[in-house]
Amino acid sequence: MIGDWEIQKMADEIVRLKAKSVAIQFPDGLRKRMVDVVLELKGKVDANIYLWGDPCYGACDIADAPVDLIFHLGHAPLGHIESKNVVYMELQKELPDTDLLERAIPSLGEKTGLISSVQYVPELLRVRQSLTAKGVEAVIGEGDSRLSYPGQVLGCNFSSARSVANDVDSFLYLGGGNFHPIGVALATGKKVVVLDPERDEVRDIDDAVDEMKRLRFAAMEIARPAETFGIIVSMKVGQNRLELANSLEELLREKGKRSVTILLDYVTPENLLGLDVDALVSTACPRVAVDEQARFDKPILTPTELRILLGDMEWDDYTLDEILGSDSFNSA
Ligand code: SF4
Repeated sequence: MIGDWEIQKMADEIVRLKAKSVAIQFPDGLRKRMVDVVLELKGKVDANIYLWGDPCYGACDIADAPVDLIFHLGHAPLGHIESKNVVYMELQKELPDTDLLERAIPSLGEKTGLISSVQYVPELLRVRQSLTAKGVEAVIGEGDSRLSYPGQVLGCNFSSARSVANDVDSFLYLGGGNFHPIGVALATGKKVVVLDPERDEVRDIDDAVDEMKRLRFAAMEIARPAETFGIIVSMKVGQNRLELANSLEELLREKGKRSVTILLDYVTPENLLGLDVDALVSTACPRVAVDEQARFDKPILTPTELRILLGDMEWDDYTLDEILGSDSFNSA
């Protein structure tokens, strides 16, 4: 949600920073509100206000716009990305006043880790207090430098969960969707319970993990006979992993396969049309291969999946791909 308070805050920042030109980046879920927000803000300040029209799924993607100020909505900063003229507005929310937590408690162990999307990070401390009062010990792990808050997880970084995984029986995730909790379940090997305020639902993630692994195994089997691979590298500031692509090219060469590294901004089927490769490997946002396989006419693997396919890792060690901060205890 973006309301009057947030729009007034943007107007105040524009005045305070004396910005004359401003671009606003919206998360995909707010597309319907974009035009209204820009028009409202135009009515409040004497500055040129522009709507950034490209899709934006994370703080890995900061608009490269020739303006004095960028408002980046719905995401927290990625610690290692320099963003001098960017103001982040995380659009955080409160949990609704329901019995969701009561419903989640029976599924948790004696000691649980608390994790959330950035929207519900402020609720982690309150949930910890409530759980403690009910006899459940709850801990909130510190993540690496890619994360802004303890307990926060991204679709590409589960380091806050991994940091406490050995101390807990389960995790409780506050937020919508299954991608983040699936990632935590695979990264930690622990049970993950989802407290989903958007669907007013508490759910176990086990079936979703199995389904996702089944689909990824199928994509790997389709890629198995491939001789020529396209390695995708995104040029977005927080997704660019050229060194990883170089190491994958080397691995493929050692295994007698051919590969070409493809640099692009957006990983879409249209941008890869006509490329004469048998399979793709994405080093860009880890969600692309997993969430968007159905849009591509070729198998698109994560770096981990390629390593398993080439016999460099075991399927039993399968995890989702992560982009770690430079200080991560797992960043070797
Ligand atoms: S790389 Fe993907 S999961 Fe990570 S912040 Fe960017 S959009 Fe989100």
